[in-house]
Amino acid sequence: MIPYGKQDISEDDIQRVVEVLKSDYITQGPVVSQFESAIAKQCHAKYAIACNSATSALHIACLALGVGQGDIVWTSPISFVASSNCALYCGASVDFIDIDINSGNISPEKLTEKLAQAQKNNTLPKAIILVHLAGQSCQMDKIKQLTKQYNIALIEDASHAIGARYQGYPVGSCQFSDITIFSFHPVKIITSAEGGMAVTNNQELARKMQRLRSHGITNQSDEMTEPSHGPWYYQQIELGFNYRMTELQAALGLSQSSKLAKFVEQRNNLASYYDKAFNHSAITPLTPQSDAYSAYHLYIVLLPELDKSKHKQVICALRDHNIFAHVHYIPIHTQPYYQNLGFNLGDFPVAEEYYNRAISLPLFPQLTVKEQDYIIETLLNVIK
Ligand SMILES: *Cc1c(COP(=O)(O)O)cnc(C)c1O
Repeated sequence: MIPYGKQDISEDDIQRVVEVLKSDYITQGPVVSQFESAIAKQCHAKYAIACNSATSALHIACLALGVGQGDIVWTSPISFVASSNCALYCGASVDFIDIDINSGNISPEKLTEKLAQAQKNNTLPKAIILVHLAGQSCQMDKIKQLTKQYNIALIEDASHAIGARYQGYPVGSCQFSDITIFSFHPVKIITSAEGGMAVTNNQELARKMQRLRSHGITNQSDEMTEPSHGPWYYQQIELGFNYRMTELQAALGLSQSSKLAKFVEQRNNLASYYDKAFNHSAITPLTPQSDAYSAYHLYIVLLPELDKSKHKQVICALRDHNIFAHVHYIPIHTQPYYQNLGFNLGDFPVAEEYYNRAISLPLFPQLTVKEQDYIIETLLNVIK
């Protein structure tokens, strides 16, 4: 079976992890700091906070921005459930912004309308969590203008988009947002097995997230309520979690990060090969944005018409041919848990149409031309 994505781990990555295993620290230590510095440097952000997953990073990002009971957080219905669950963890409620079918990202027009309506109803969100679907940045300039106008915090869930660029800025530069989150899960662009990171240019947010990932504890004297008792002293000043990354994970992530540009370039090359093959066919790849460079975490195509049974047929036929096609994502508001919160089918019609037309094709650095030709030929045959 050709998977839709897979990690690319080489001998030097393994060596870095082995070295850590033989060193003094195996939980958060100097290699975590090195990994944080490498990612901060890569995306031109001032601060980076490594966590044990992107989900934890999203949770503490929401908390750092003050999201809590009584607040509303908006995100995209076309994402992994973690993009939305993180707000629920904080006691906030969630709402969604419908997408633009061509990019799969939230529609700035829909956002504009929804904000105007929310202002009238006094239901403006405290924060918006954007998702750069498949590695392609959202339209940050328009979105930032809106969040500034309404004074709303902005988080980028860039779990798909490390190594991507928007208007020349690396995703994670936080030029357009308060905090950006990356995931290092093995299907993502670079991996630390499990792992995630929050980056920001705001020192206060960075310090708050550093405390929240480790029980709410500080060892910074300027954050303490009284002078330090001595070199052993620390204070818990708020309620945090154990969301720390291990040195083993950081060693793998750090080693992988040195290959980020290469991985993203390989993914772009594979994507253009697909693009060319589907040109003038009934298959439409998600439309790339002109002022962005995608990290191509996923290669997603849309079937021409909304035909649920055909969509299922095509995916099953691909799997029958040993091609592990997938769907990213099931609209979050249609999940039973979210239906119980009051969401209904039909609430975000474009996301629902997208769900019945989208197919993720295999895309990962070691995918061969032969495999790609086989995938293309099989897909074009099965849609006939
Ligand atoms: C993978 C993913 C997450 C969660 O990442 P973990 O590191 O597995 O917690 C969150 N959001 C999106 C969009 C993702 O793709």
